[in-house]
Amino acid sequence: MTSGYVCVTFDFDALSSWMARGQLTATPRSRGEFAAVAVPRLLHTLAVRGITATWFVPGHTALTYPELTREIIAQGHEVAVHGHAHENVAALPPAEERAVLRRSLEALTDVTGLTPRGFRAPAWDLSDASVGLLAEHGLLYDSSLMGHDHAPYLCRTPDAVDEDGVRWGDPTELVEIPVAWSLDDFPHLEFLRTPSGLMPGLRDPAEMFTHWTRDLDYMLRDIDRGVLTATMHPEVIGRGHRLLALEEWLDGLADRDVTFATCEDIAALTRSGARLGEYRPA
Ligand SMILES: [Zn+2]
Repeated sequence: MTSGYVCVTFDFDALSSWMARGQLTATPRSRGEFAAVAVPRLLHTLAVRGITATWFVPGHTALTYPELTREIIAQGHEVAVHGHAHENVAALPPAEERAVLRRSLEALTDVTGLTPRGFRAPAWDLSDASVGLLAEHGLLYDSSLMGHDHAPYLCRTPDAVDEDGVRWGDPTELVEIPVAWSLDDFPHLEFLRTPSGLMPGLRDPAEMFTHWTRDLDYMLRDIDRGVLTATMHPEVIGRGHRLLALEEWLDGLADRDVTFATCEDIAALTRSGARLGEYRPA
């Protein structure tokens, strides 16, 4: 068995994701509002276990809940960028993407007094301009891509894909801490009506966490110093039956050789030359 890292991450979307969906009637607003009810519960869950997490906070959320955002920092967690009002950056013209990034960085810096070091694209879609923009604004890492499951890697300048094949871009200094929809609570658990159909969600959270544990156990068997990045949303995971399942999951990791790390820790390790996530089958 090898050792590994677990990054526990929360996307504190609050009202911003409902803004991005154009759903701002009273009930969707209140669904966003529930995130702020859930954050203190999650902070307590983490504090009693001594776990440090990364919280991706849209600028709009930081401005709406400045005290709560500062409390996240006060409890030793990392706060990183997640758009301003949960914009899909892949759909924005470059000038607008730049303006949104600046606005979100400014909001987080004003509220927390700290400069964020990482970025996660709302809805996990980067534009071809994103990598350059993030590096230009001093960010160390992104956490939106899916090119690996357990190895951080360097983001590339845009790849060119056509019928003849792919011409890969050049590696940059920006570290990617990859994510996966299977390691996200939202599609498993959240019920949502969208213009394109119904997202049923509402699955048994224990089943979701069993998948996550199985991913982790595979990683610990065959991947040396791998990283498992789990993504949760306060408004989703912060309800009773899910919170109990989260607590059971975290407690169940205690007998495995894992270190809880923030995304910033993983980005710093990667930039210092540490080889994380090498395939070494047992
Ligand atoms: Zn989000």
